Amino acid sequence: MIFGWFKKRRRKKILAQPIPESWALHLNRNVRLSWDLPPAEMARLQKLTQVFVAEKHWEGCEGLDVTEEMKVTIAAQACLMLLGVDDFYFDNVSTILVYPQAIVRASTDGSPTHRAGEAWQGGPIVLAWNSSLKGGRNEDDGKNVVIHEFAHALDGLDGEMGGEIVFDDDETAAKWQELVKVKFGELCQAKEQGRSTLLDHYGATNPAEFFAVSSETFFEQPHELRDEHTELFRMLKLYYKVDPTQWQETIVRRRERNRNRKPR
Ligand SMILES: [Zn+2]
Repeated sequence: MIFGWFKKRRRKKILAQPIPESWALHLNRNVRLSWDLPPAEMARLQKLTQVFVAEKHWEGCEGLDVTEEMKVTIAAQACLMLLGVDDFYFDNVSTILVYPQAIVRASTDGSPTHRAGEAWQGGPIVLAWNSSLKGGRNEDDGKNVVIHEFAHALDGLDGEMGGEIVFDDDETAAKWQELVKVKFGELCQAKEQGRSTLLDHYGATNPAEFFAVSSETFFEQPHELRDEHTELFRMLKLYYKVDPTQWQETIVRRRERNRNRKPR
């Protein structure tokens, strides 16, 4: 209880500070998904980002000096996922490790594999800065490593990152489990047959990756997800309590312009 009170008081202090002007520039350059947020949501994103940047322990790896730009760019992408939720700042994640580029790990056969990010239950979120920046600047390709890893963090709130996410009521949670069975099965089949799909094939790894990959698509390609996987979109909308189709006017307009420009 005392800890909760202390945390609240500390957050109040953080939120009372003015947001540096440079942050708007970072958001504008690096977090394109924030471009079309209505003013009230934009203000909320900045406040969420402010707490996130201040509360997390940031650690640069392989000699990387974690700059304000890096913190704001990573934090704001993660906080887009919190716009529908009250008083939660990924409290279960205390440390963010930032590598300059892909993290090299030994795979089971000993050969090196390259990873853009990692999430550990009860541990840090690990991110490659170059991939985090790319994900923020390519807002509609369905790939976003920050959203992916923080989806794992949300998935871990029930004690394990196994793809069972927590809803307001058990009935909805059970519906999610049923839906994942079907959708995960479909994706596995498409992957086996080599068919390209809206959801990245990596989502066919296991239900946890399915949730992380679906979250990337939900935020970056919400119209496509809504049209192709209506029920999955609806469930994720219930989960995140936001509708990202409403944040995509610029993207939609640009796509229409490009379509009209095509030679007939
Ligand atoms: Zn993953």
